Amino acid sequence: MSPTERISYHACPLCEATCGLEIRTRGRDVIGIRGDEADVFSRGFICPKGYAVKELDADPDRLRTPLVRRNGALQPATWDEAFAEIDRRLTPIIRDHGRDAVAVYLGNPSAHSLALGMYGQVLLRALGTKNLYTASTVDQMPKQVAVGLMFGTVLSVPVPDIDRTDYLLMLGADPFVSNGSLLTAPDLPGRLRALKKRGGKIVVIDPRRSRTASEASEHHFIRPGTDAYFLFGIVNTLFGERLAHLGRLAEHTVGVDEVEAVARPFTPEVVAVRCGIDAAVIRRLARELARVERAAVYGRIGTCTQEFGTLASWLVDVINVLTGHLDQAGGAMFTKAASGSPHTRGTPGRGKGVRFGRRLSRVRNAPETYGELPVACLAEEIETPGEGQVRALITVAGNPVLSNPNGARLDRALATLDFMVSLDIYLNETTRHADVILPGLSALEQSHYDLALRQLAIRNVATYSAPVFDVPDGQQPEWQTLLRLAGIVSGQGAQADIDALDGFVALQRIEHDVTSPTSPIHGRESGDIMAALAPRRGPERLLDLMLRTGPYGDGFGVKPGGLTLAALEAQPHGIDFGPLEPRIPEMLRTPSGKIELAPEPLIADVTRLRAELERTAQPMVLIGRRDLRSNNSWMHNLAVLVKGKPRCTMLCHPTDASRLRLADGGQARVTSGSDTIQVAVELTDAIMPGVVSIPHGWGHDSPGTRLRVAAAHAGVNSNRLADECALDPLSGNAVLCGIPVTIEPAIRAD
Ligand code: SF4
Repeated sequence: MSPTERISYHACPLCEATCGLEIRTRGRDVIGIRGDEADVFSRGFICPKGYAVKELDADPDRLRTPLVRRNGALQPATWDEAFAEIDRRLTPIIRDHGRDAVAVYLGNPSAHSLALGMYGQVLLRALGTKNLYTASTVDQMPKQVAVGLMFGTVLSVPVPDIDRTDYLLMLGADPFVSNGSLLTAPDLPGRLRALKKRGGKIVVIDPRRSRTASEASEHHFIRPGTDAYFLFGIVNTLFGERLAHLGRLAEHTVGVDEVEAVARPFTPEVVAVRCGIDAAVIRRLARELARVERAAVYGRIGTCTQEFGTLASWLVDVINVLTGHLDQAGGAMFTKAASGSPHTRGTPGRGKGVRFGRRLSRVRNAPETYGELPVACLAEEIETPGEGQVRALITVAGNPVLSNPNGARLDRALATLDFMVSLDIYLNETTRHADVILPGLSALEQSHYDLALRQLAIRNVATYSAPVFDVPDGQQPEWQTLLRLAGIVSGQGAQADIDALDGFVALQRIEHDVTSPTSPIHGRESGDIMAALAPRRGPERLLDLMLRTGPYGDGFGVKPGGLTLAALEAQPHGIDFGPLEPRIPEMLRTPSGKIELAPEPLIADVTRLRAELERTAQPMVLIGRRDLRSNNSWMHNLAVLVKGKPRCTMLCHPTDASRLRLADGGQARVTSGSDTIQVAVELTDAIMPGVVSIPHGWGHDSPGTRLRVAAAHAGVNSNRLADECALDPLSGNAVLCGIPVTIEPAIRAD
């Protein structure tokens, strides 16, 4: 090894699996990446995206200096010039039109970043806008609503205990390529294969024979958007055949009778027509689930991005409860994260629960959910004049033009804003509309701790990664960028004292803890805690506070030998606190202190489901799909991930292709109520007849971007076909699965 070579360990931030990476560097260059064999959770596993961290770090298209629009063109600027421009343009909008005139959009990578996750919230509090939008409402919001109502907090999400289960029923998930979603478990392919190897069974319900379905013990096609019917068929069978046995959960659960009553009309024979799965299969799966000692049901994005997404998400856990598999080893369990979570704080076994709809969006009266509005409303809030109109937008690590339903409309709307500022690593289809772009950092130039994802892990683990490289000259840490924005929107100007602001943020957090009766530092002096955290600042100071007041923490001396950030830093491969353990009733935060099996909003929504029971299936509907080398829109500029066979194709069953006169490799025109796109056809019997599939996140053909590799592999934006008015009403989540389309052959545009 040459003297200048170095080995560092860093968690991969590119998906939810949180794999440990071993990174070899020489000077400022990455010369090799492989899985960290000693990582306590990932044990050396790495997927192709993990290797691409090297290309992402070196990507010449990645922004490294602020850009400010001058004379219509984005031009390099200093940080001071960029913040001065933001202050000059944004402050008058807030003064003249109020805080709601500024919307914020937080993209998916915000949830994978320590700095963005923590200081994005600081910016939001400083701005105080009601117009908050995130990627959650095109992804998992239905699950968060369902578990909030059932268990009491936004992140009370049970995860399947993959390593100990003997039976896994999966809907709308393809973990062999996604590597898990709302489920953090490195090497899910390996863990699922191990499940089968030990004699277990995997059943996949999906309109497509996905990679996961191909590896499963059993796969059944389901008509897109009908998961709630299928799941109700199972619930009906559990009650009808007296298979519902809650076990020790019985004394902690209310609402069982109400669920039995609303499930009565949904017999397997009735729902089979709607969902396309035989009644006999539904009954058999219900019996198997009830009889296997260690079993879990897991539903993911396909169950969420549909018109009954919250009902489907709820029913997944209703079945886990009715079969007695919730909160037991090998079932669906709750993580106890080291940094704490809403269900480790507060009063064990009782809480305030969750409330939604405290306010409505201005144009279509869509209710807020956990403080945010459906992102499908963003375009109309920009376009529609009147009091409260959105006139300015701040985006953080997002590309909603590609991820939002009817992205073409949002694209047009963004061009009409009075002002837009983006914090991003790329000049992409969304940030091309910005007046100022503030560059983010490479993952390797930042520290990392998965605040959100470790709350969804199948083991209680914690890993902290120090930055591999220093922040380059001319760039600045993202948390400082967000604090400077917070300084501007709070009226302190472009030169606000960042250290003072950061100290204020930390002190506020400490004061919350010392006044909270259930905190281990309750009653202590804030100044003493602040002093104990010195000399840390920024995300590390807040993280140290969270770890030390978390479930394994030292409580600043209360539990000697307990977890601190220093202790975690000394273990670069992470600390394993062991397998998940039963946590009910301690983790419940519902007002009743019970599992609320039949929350009123969900029971009320069953009426809507019943009303659609007889609906005739659309002749052709569109669904999405995941690819191992892609994650939404932002990894398409890495040659190593887009090389080879084009991935943005439309899968179509040969029977449909014959009827529609489509040829393999030919082009199709696909039209919905929103738009028309043209896409290459790929014939396969792995898709259900009557269904076509196009992956989302593509469509890199807009002018004014700086994504040279992506532009050469542009693909097409399938979300243009989604109707921004079609939402799951309980969660505000967009309907992206089961979009009615018409299809005809097309002549290639080129
Ligand atoms: S599975 Fe996810 S976390 Fe692991 S290497 Fe691949 S992209 Fe990174």
